[in-house]
Amino acid sequence: MDHTAGLIPLDSALEQMLSRVSKLTACETLPLLACFGRVAAQDIVSPLNVPGFDNAAMDGYAVRLADLVANAPLPVAGKAFAGQPFSGEWPAGSCVRIMTGAPVPPGCEAVVMQEETEQSDAGVRFIAPVRAGQHIRRAGEDIRAGAAVYRAGQKLTAAELPVLASLGIAEVSVVRKVRVALFSTGDELRLPGQPLDEGQIYDTNRLTVHLMLEQLGCEVINLGIIPDDPALLRETFIRADQQADVVISTGGVSVGEADYTKTLLDELGEITFWKLAIKPGKPFAFGKLPHSWFCGLPGNPVSAALTFYQLVQPLLAKLSGGSASPLPLRLRARALTRLKKSPGRLDFQRGRLARDENGELVVSSTGPQGSHIFSSFSQGNCFIVLERERGNVEAGEWVEVEMFNHLFGG
Ligand code: AMP
Ligand code: MG
Repeated sequence: MDHTAGLIPLDSALEQMLSRVSKLTACETLPLLACFGRVAAQDIVSPLNVPGFDNAAMDGYAVRLADLVANAPLPVAGKAFAGQPFSGEWPAGSCVRIMTGAPVPPGCEAVVMQEETEQSDAGVRFIAPVRAGQHIRRAGEDIRAGAAVYRAGQKLTAAELPVLASLGIAEVSVVRKVRVALFSTGDELRLPGQPLDEGQIYDTNRLTVHLMLEQLGCEVINLGIIPDDPALLRETFIRADQQADVVISTGGVSVGEADYTKTLLDELGEITFWKLAIKPGKPFAFGKLPHSWFCGLPGNPVSAALTFYQLVQPLLAKLSGGSASPLPLRLRARALTRLKKSPGRLDFQRGRLARDENGELVVSSTGPQGSHIFSSFSQGNCFIVLERERGNVEAGEWVEVEMFNHLFGG
């Protein structure tokens, strides 16, 4: 029997999901600190030049080139500090002592660093050639007043927010947070801290997804564990849909007898159930509820984490207004260990990427790859991405790897 018939490739599933959703339109205006990790809702235009004025890039002396021709020592006419410009008269044949960040005095054509001068009672001598414009940071060199500094859709991080501070911008209009309602399904699930009866296990998926949602800057509505009971599940789906932009469930999406999600969702919305051609993580559901989008993750913990990472993460990025996220960067590395693989599904094995003594990228398996072996995420630092039709990989063969991002501590 062909176990791979009817499986859909990851990129087709992702394309279908992303083509259906568009970014949230609601926004809010927040102070810079609160904008961390958020997405700009509008283009941001600079009200200022940065730097705001021509200033010294070094501690030294401000000079006019004509005064240097005679190569004689020049008396010092005064001093300029950052925040305290030189405001006196600047007579011909003199120089001005200047510190880094101080505005250069009008007429200044170069700043000479202190190390290229000699001081004596007669004044300052310039002992190295001086080039017009040297060590002067020009007004507007970094950012011009009126220029669009960032476009709508720009994610605001520690790379962007300080730039906005340098422009004197105190608040930014950002897309509102995506609201995500989350629950896990399964009669066997208990909360950590509770005793276990026979056949019961602790709910781990809800914590995985909750933590990842928080790291992605979503507002999380955690609805707990829902037993495999059609009436309770129905009620939960309706409640979740009314509160959230996205509803995420885990478990109950395969073909077992307690897998009610499919029947319920056929009734409540339009849902596509996919068997993804990936490993781990075959069963996955995506669709539209009356008010929200729905993602049904598989129950196996590694599969739930992987499908969230590969499919839900880009979906949330699009909803939150971010400009199209580039495909994850994949690197080529040499496998140090044999990797078991049967053809038919794109495999995301967990590996450890490192450099060998020659500086080449090498990767080894974290060990057993079962969809219940969650410790592999902590032991690994990357996915080893093995092409769909590939079979076993022998040590020494080239493979593609994708470093974990911040969701797994990367
Ligand atoms: P299911 O997709 O509901 O058939 O579940 C597949 C496997 O994942 C079963 O072994 C479940 O017990 C397990 N599982 C389901 N949900 C969770 C969860 N929230 N935490 C840990 N394991 C789970
Ligand atoms: Mg279940």
